Amino acid sequence: MARFIGAIDQGTTSTRFIVVDEAGEIRAVDQREHAQIYPRPGWVEHDAAEILQNARAAIAGALASARLTPGDLAAVGVTNQRETSLLWDRATGRPLHNALVWMDMRTQAAAERLAAKGAGGLLRAKTGLPPAAYFSGLKLAWLLDSLPGARGKAERGEALFGTMDSWLIWNMTGGRHVTDATNASRTQLMNLSTLDWDDELLTLFDIPRACLPEIRSSSELYGVCRDPLAGVPLAGALGDQHAALLGQACVRAGDAKNTYGTGCFLLMNTGETPRPSQSGLLTTLGYKLGAAPAVYALEGSIAIAGALIQWLRDNLGLIEKSADVEALARSVPDNGDVYFVPAFSGLYAPRWRGDARGIIAGLTRFSNKGHIARAALEAAAYQTREVMAAMSADSGVALSELKVDGGMAANDLLMQFQADILGAPVVRPHHLETTALGAAYAAGLAVGFFKGVDDIAAHWRAERRFEPGMGDVERARLVASWEKAVERSLGWSA
Ligand code: ADP
Repeated sequence: MARFIGAIDQGTTSTRFIVVDEAGEIRAVDQREHAQIYPRPGWVEHDAAEILQNARAAIAGALASARLTPGDLAAVGVTNQRETSLLWDRATGRPLHNALVWMDMRTQAAAERLAAKGAGGLLRAKTGLPPAAYFSGLKLAWLLDSLPGARGKAERGEALFGTMDSWLIWNMTGGRHVTDATNASRTQLMNLSTLDWDDELLTLFDIPRACLPEIRSSSELYGVCRDPLAGVPLAGALGDQHAALLGQACVRAGDAKNTYGTGCFLLMNTGETPRPSQSGLLTTLGYKLGAAPAVYALEGSIAIAGALIQWLRDNLGLIEKSADVEALARSVPDNGDVYFVPAFSGLYAPRWRGDARGIIAGLTRFSNKGHIARAALEAAAYQTREVMAAMSADSGVALSELKVDGGMAANDLLMQFQADILGAPVVRPHHLETTALGAAYAAGLAVGFFKGVDDIAAHWRAERRFEPGMGDVERARLVASWEKAVERSLGWSA
């Protein structure tokens, strides 16, 4: 009797496998980090073969740790870092190049050309997204234009495109070339209303249809897995932020969550019609569960959040592991008037300034590494505040509280500061693995293991609530200084 659901969570920094039971409790987990490859400033790549190997190892590790076999799993789902783009050879299964990671900036000039051509209106109307280096369409175009022979192979269907969901599903099922609608919604090649590839967009980006996967719902049978999950139905797929929306049980219009991972992503469920943004947010698909109508979302994306903590660890050697940043930040009582704008890949929502670059402002002889650590953590909170303001303006709903998750949400200092700087409570759920949970829910719904979204919502419970404690005057002073620092980061790489 299959008693559990599995989920592969293919993130920017690592790949995890979790096993959940029918109460949504996590019974097993295993995680493997992969290399971040930086061939040039602004370029970020992953080795897709390493990621596939890590996924297989994490699956085997999690099953072994809980003494489970594939027969114990009723289904498995996939969730993934979005927009990260890959071309592989259909015959050999080998990638033609490293995957271009979502935050990679090599397509910045191409994005600017699209904007200059006046394509912004068309893109916003059809895809909900502005012209930006971030999305997969331009990344795919770069691969087709830069790799010798790639375009011809793609036109003949011999080279296949996919984001990491497609790559894993293709490999796990022995050749099903599919993607789910949430991942497809980030390519700028799918029409957000029809949920199909759009000829006008394919022409704009010069993409041959033959290399694209079939777009499917987020919750249905895609195929049956091979080793190490032999015989298990693969039945759910969602981009990570969409999975977290579901995993946080944001299943009613107005429900919102913020995920603090490598970047930071605030999504609000806006119901069954796409809602255009006037304030620099993205209109995106929330999720599409089988034959049920699609649910849309507004999204505020922040490129660098936890990645800044990794940068303190790897590039400055200030800390040994990410979690140590909290103690370092607590070594000082406040930020000492130091502000860190981590515009390493430009600034995303709500500003969309590809020309911004990172800046540390306000340094004096007094500043020390505690202040830098604090400023790095606070940066995630200030950026979230800006996105929240845009979200309220667009939706007309002032969020009464913010549900949080992601690796960085474990940081109590950050969560308290977030509540303070928002002037609203921050609520952390019992499980921070909401991304993987969302993928497990999608897979479980497809095979009848979970009964419906109400069943899922009943599993959600809070672990801790952070109440705002900061006065209005203090908040206004801090925000004004942050905004001054942001002004100075703009235009650096013009
Ligand atoms: P992703 O799915 O994007 O790989 P995760 O949700 O796993 O990200 O979160 C990992 C990120 O969170 C890393 O960038 C790491 O630096 C950061 N992080 C993890 N623990 C902490 C912590 N205690 N304080 C601050 N940042 C943390």
